[in-house]
Amino acid sequence: MGYQTPRGTYDILPDEIAKWNDVEQVIREKTRLYRYHEMRTPYFEDTKVFKRENDSSDMVNKEMYTFAMGSESYTLRPEGTAGVIRAFDQHKLYGSMELPARFWYMGAMFRHERPQKGRQRQFTQFGVENIGAKTPELDAETIALGYDIVKSMGISSVKVLINTLGDDESRAAYRSALKEYFAPYIEDLCGDCKRRYEQNPLRILDCKVDHEKECMAHAPSLGEYLNEESRKYFDRVLECLDALSIPYEIDEKLVRGLDYYTHTVFEVVSTRPDSGAQATVFAGGRYDHFVSYYGGPDMSGIGFAIGLERLIALATEEGYAFSQEPQLQAYVIGLGEVGPAVLKTVQMLRREGFVAEGNLVPRSLKAQFKSADRNKAKYIVILGEDEVKNGTVNVKKTGDRSQETLPIDGLAEALRRWENE
Ligand code: ATP
Ligand code: MG
Repeated sequence: MGYQTPRGTYDILPDEIAKWNDVEQVIREKTRLYRYHEMRTPYFEDTKVFKRENDSSDMVNKEMYTFAMGSESYTLRPEGTAGVIRAFDQHKLYGSMELPARFWYMGAMFRHERPQKGRQRQFTQFGVENIGAKTPELDAETIALGYDIVKSMGISSVKVLINTLGDDESRAAYRSALKEYFAPYIEDLCGDCKRRYEQNPLRILDCKVDHEKECMAHAPSLGEYLNEESRKYFDRVLECLDALSIPYEIDEKLVRGLDYYTHTVFEVVSTRPDSGAQATVFAGGRYDHFVSYYGGPDMSGIGFAIGLERLIALATEEGYAFSQEPQLQAYVIGLGEVGPAVLKTVQMLRREGFVAEGNLVPRSLKAQFKSADRNKAKYIVILGEDEVKNGTVNVKKTGDRSQETLPIDGLAEALRRWENE
């Protein structure tokens, strides 16, 4: 066997590409309506951009493609937020843009995890970051954009799971409570959880290994440790979602995979019974200490990322009508030694805006007609040596099989007229 794509990667062949173009178009249209600005950052960054001190997440600790070049260490981006914020700080956009600054990005992300349905090593995310202001209304609007995109792809079987991690004070109180609670169970937990216990005990609740254990079910929930302000903030987010008629479910165990979240965190999950462990279509949350991490001011932001492979898979399952290839309008056939004239005619038609193809290989008239038929050409333009000499063409409308001889100069106009009939 010849060469193969690396494990966890895939080719998008022409018969699948329409889905990608459709999704990308919906995304471009929605971000235009919501007035987000596109940002494109490098596919690799200094490892320290992603590997932040004391980060306990699996993504940072286990899944990164990191490589050394000379004395530098680089990492293929596993997510989009870090690069956007790094750029926001590097170019001091907080000084030149109106706040909150709204960005979107789309492109490949890389994570070394076990490939399975809905989980690849190179996958594609669309995401947004809304930086420089902190209000419940902004949180709800951000969720609404993601929800809007999912709905626009014809996906109805989804729900929003939402939770709050509260502000620093609430989180600190909850953190101590969790440490106290898990102390007697620590020996029963997995190796990762032992690390999490020290670094960020909240992440124990997100463990995929230990989540069925008895001690998980009785862990204190964050709600009990929220201060007044955090609770009011969260209530207001929910009030906004109600106002937008976005259905949600409060999930007190939702802490999300990254360490930097504060206040609102959310996931949009598929409710289809067959979506399994890869049910999360998109996820995000608010962060309070991320912008200053890269050297910018102390600003809050909120963002989410949608996995496009999962979005496309769901849209397909729900029967979304993806675009078809553009129909071939004119197929130009040559009879005899008329190759240059065929080529010239096809180019003229394309210049006039028609989807056109010509026969540029030696084959019989019958084979050429067959090709026009197979490609469902609406018009077959026939050029023989006599036509070329006289400056005319013979055109067959495949719909009613009628045929006409026209001056070549009038061809484009005639096609336009027939198209509008
Ligand atoms: P999971 O719990 O499924 O591993 P995550 O918490 O790692 O997800 P995020 O980092 O929040 O995911 O990424 C947001 C979205 O990106 C996910 O909801 C998912 O749709 C998509 N995604 C994440 N990792 C992968 C992957 N390896 N392959 C395909 N899509 C992915
Ligand atoms: Mg993951």
